[in-house]
Amino acid sequence: MAKIIRSQRANTSSVRSAPKKKAVKAATPQPKRAAKKPAAKKAAKPKPWTAEEVYEAFDRFRKANPEPKGELEHLNPYTLLVAVVLSAQATDAGVNKATRALFAIADTPEKMLELGEDRVRDYIKTIGLYRNKARNVIALSEKLIAEFGSKVPRTRAEIESLPGAGRKTANVVLNMAFGEHTMAVDTHVFRVGNRTGLAPGKTPLEVELGLEKVIPTEFMLHAHHWLILHGRYTCLARGPRCDVCLINDLCRWPEKTV
Ligand code: SF4
Repeated sequence: MAKIIRSQRANTSSVRSAPKKKAVKAATPQPKRAAKKPAAKKAAKPKPWTAEEVYEAFDRFRKANPEPKGELEHLNPYTLLVAVVLSAQATDAGVNKATRALFAIADTPEKMLELGEDRVRDYIKTIGLYRNKARNVIALSEKLIAEFGSKVPRTRAEIESLPGAGRKTANVVLNMAFGEHTMAVDTHVFRVGNRTGLAPGKTPLEVELGLEKVIPTEFMLHAHHWLILHGRYTCLARGPRCDVCLINDLCRWPEKTV
């Protein structure tokens, strides 16, 4: 009998001890929970600009430079179109150097065709991708004559249909030649839109649409030039000149130096 009683006690004790084991397990640190810590590293999203701040920024740009000008030399909408097509992956100064002599003898699609692709190539051979670009200049001149009465068309879709012309080209031409409120996003505008937090975006189109959304209409005619000039001379890719920046108090870039 005594054996039986001992055995029963042992069993009871074994059953009761089970929850204790569970409790020990529960107290063990969970690796998964520990992995959540990096969430704290997430950089805080910069505060979006208020409408007043955007107005203030562009008002300062306007006061500093009421009539900003693009730096691509041209004589008419056609030469502007050609200059913009040539400026892809090239500097405005480099394009101007080549086009001064070219436009002096060919400032219409007809004259460009008369000059011919080989000679156009000679004029622009200091510009990157000049072979391709010479071909495009001739092809777009032919298309202008054949389909648009030798005139630069006034819609984005039509300009984009020309050889060598994309959305940025269309936006520059529509803005500079026809006074449309377009926003051409080049490398400078892309950088400024992102750094300042005015219009963050992963693609030029995102930045373009973001800027169009926040910039008041009264500034849109010149906004493209103000932002390009700001990026080219102040908000430089390497070593931005934050100390002399007109909008350094408004800029959201965490790495700004003021
Ligand atoms: S403060 Fe610096 S980073 Fe910001 S817009 Fe001005 S130059 Fe660019």
